[in-house]
Amino acid sequence: MPATPLHLDTPLFRTQESYSASNRPLWLKLDALQPAGSFKLRGVGRLCQHEVENGAKEIFCASGGNAGIAAAYAGRALGIPVTIVVPETTAEDVRQSITATGATVLVHGAVFDEANTHAVELAKFRKAAYVHPFDHPLLWEGHGTLIDEVVAKGAEFDCVIASVGGGGLLAGIVAGLKRNGLNDVPVIAVETEGAASFHASLKAGERITLPAITSIANSLGARQVAQHVFDLPTQHPIESVTVTDAQAVAACLKFSDAYRILVEPACGAALAVADTHPDLLGRFNSPLIEVCGGIGVSLEKLKVWRERLL
Ligand SMILES: *Cc1c(COP(=O)(O)O)cnc(C)c1O
Repeated sequence: MPATPLHLDTPLFRTQESYSASNRPLWLKLDALQPAGSFKLRGVGRLCQHEVENGAKEIFCASGGNAGIAAAYAGRALGIPVTIVVPETTAEDVRQSITATGATVLVHGAVFDEANTHAVELAKFRKAAYVHPFDHPLLWEGHGTLIDEVVAKGAEFDCVIASVGGGGLLAGIVAGLKRNGLNDVPVIAVETEGAASFHASLKAGERITLPAITSIANSLGARQVAQHVFDLPTQHPIESVTVTDAQAVAACLKFSDAYRILVEPACGAALAVADTHPDLLGRFNSPLIEVCGGIGVSLEKLKVWRERLL
């Protein structure tokens, strides 16, 4: 029997038509309410459980934030030590949240890639399991449970809107759609300008590595998407769009005022599309937005972003 998942079955509800410029009701899947603050626990929890079932005594993960919190939470639930390697850019409060969740934080490298290489090496040296934040089939299998839940509730939707960093969430949503027989339901993949590695890769016809991340949506800040993610549009209908940081922040503020829940700009990006791309949404009757959440937000941060960008 498979182990009980570590993530929760999160609420799903429908907005009023008037909520967005798309003028249609939107299904919102509230993964901001997961323990650990984002959808990440779905896949990271699944992968950590798998590693522990296969004898792992220790877990290493590289992350700028939410994957680290999810791994820390999973490790505590599974009773094994977890070390999260974060780059210097990871904010002090995020490091503290990871520590408070029970993991050890190591700071290494200027950017995620350097932290990641270090985590891989440490895991190898210590004969421990290494958990990638977005590039593993079991992560995608775990993330796909969000689609299973929406389908189980009987909600009908004709597109899914989700944000893209390294693309683990996108890959998971496609996996979830496929296993529920929803091969024709397109996914609208959203990035912020300055973190749009997927968008740039599709445009160029090859997997691009961005020279730098210049968006405030740091959970979307993978300079390169996974190869599997780059290949997904040949297997499933996917449309790639971008929004500005200002649009993402405006969507966070609107969502917090309407529903009293704070989400990161990385999540605001997906919420923004219903306002910024009404023509695109006009092709669908019943969009589903993955409200992916994230802990890298506070009233104070939203205030600073609003003053700087809006
Ligand atoms: C990780 C994350 C993303 C992006 O997910 P990927 O699997 O890297 O594409 C988006 N939003 C939030 C809040 C995240 O934590």
